[in-house]
Formats: sequence, structure tokens, C-alpha cells
Amino acid sequence: MEDKKPSSDSITFLGTAGARFTVTTQILASGGLWLNLSGTEILIDPGPGCIVQSTKRKLKADKLSAIILSHRHLDHSADVNIMVEAMTRGGFKRRGWLFAPADALETEPVIFSYLKSSLEGIEVLQEGKSYAIGNISFATPIRHIHPVETYGMSFKAEHAFSYIADSRYFDGLCHSYSGELLIINVVMLEHKLPIDHLAVTDAERIITELKPRVAILTHFGMSMWRAKPWEIAEKLSQQTGVRVIAARDGMRFEMDSLEEIA
Ligand SMILES: [Zn+2]
Repeated sequence: MEDKKPSSDSITFLGTAGARFTVTTQILASGGLWLNLSGTEILIDPGPGCIVQSTKRKLKADKLSAIILSHRHLDHSADVNIMVEAMTRGGFKRRGWLFAPADALETEPVIFSYLKSSLEGIEVLQEGKSYAIGNISFATPIRHIHPVETYGMSFKAEHAFSYIADSRYFDGLCHSYSGELLIINVVMLEHKLPIDHLAVTDAERIITELKPRVAILTHFGMSMWRAKPWEIAEKLSQQTGVRVIAARDGMRFEMDSLEEIA
């Protein structure tokens, strides 16, 4: 008899909206990324609707070990309080960790003080540091260029992967991240205004430089959405030779699928 194969590590995209208009209109859902890494469940960037999108998909917040905020902007943090309440079973069970940059916790904290005591702890994200959540570890290699303190993350798990959160392009993005999978927040089709977000040409540069097995684009603003992200992804695949996927609301990416790609 064969042993039952443990289920693959996975990443669920609770939403794919980024920046203001796709989020405020909910043309696309928002809500962040839900990781299941060898049974350790981690929520990244619980934007507006996270509680709705996660419960709808039968993801259980009381199984979460940690919530990580890349930065304090609303589209990444709006549901952090309700998700902490859900993670800690209404505040009755002291459990779970919150990771966030200092400026999300200090002057005007994104987390209510009455909820803090229901957490096991809060860790401040800093440039160049590594953190552990059970058997999983992740690093925040470099501070991004964004109006508030922002970090992306590199995870060490069965399959290494990185999440490049909001930033203006700078060479440090290519030098700091690695992994078989790259998740990139690509808000804009083109740079029209000096906005501290990545556009498609930046994504192309990053993918060409880092050559992951798969790159997933997400966090779409209006210009990206109108241009049909799946068509942009197809074009980028041809240009870079890397398999590029546009995330869809609710998409669950199985990390084992990386093994099928040479
Ligand atoms: Zn932002």
C-alpha cells in the first residue's frame, strides 16, 4: 500500500486588486496571500475583504500561525484586526504572531491595542533580518522604495519563493530576491506618473534577471486590469522564456507544479 502523499505546499490568492481604484470598487477582490507550507499556514497582507474571501474559501484563520504585513497601506492591512481576532478565536486563545514594519506599529498603529495581548507576540520587520515561524523561515532582505516602510519577503520552504511587494524599481530588487517562484506586485501597465509602484517593464527586467521557474503577477491597478493581465503574462513569458502567470482571484497555486517545469 502506498503512503498517502502529504498535500503540496500552496499559495492562495485571496484577491488580485492593487492600489486604490481596483480595491475601492472591488472590480477585483483584495485580501492578500494565504500560504500553506508543510501545514504551517501564514497570511500575508490582509487587505479589505480578507475575512470574506478567506472564509468563503474555507480557509480557517484559527489555523494561522502568523500574519505578515509588508506595509501599512490599506490595501495590505485593512483587515488585520479582524484577522487577528479570528486567528486568536475571538481573542480567547492566545496564539499566533504578527510581523510588520515599525511604522505600522508605532505612531499610528494598524493593530488595536486591545487585540495585542491575544497574540503570542509581535515582531518588527527590519532590513536584512530573518524570522522563523515553526519550521518555516523568511527574510526581509531590503527596504523598498515606497511612501511608507515596506519589505518584500523571501521564504525558505520545500520550494523557495519570494514575494516582491510594492516598490518603485531599483536594482536592489533584483539583487535581493531569489527562489523557484517569484510573486510580483505589478500595479501599472506603464510609468505615466512618478508613482512608487512597479510597471510591466520593471517586472520584465526582474524576471529576466532572476530567472525563476515561474513568476506570478498580481496586485493589479486599473491600467493593468484593462490591459488583461493574462495577455501581459503571455507576452512576458515569450519575452523572458520564464513561465509567467497572471493571478486570478481565488487562484490556488500548488508549489509541486514547479517540479514539472524544467
Ligand atoms: Zn502600498
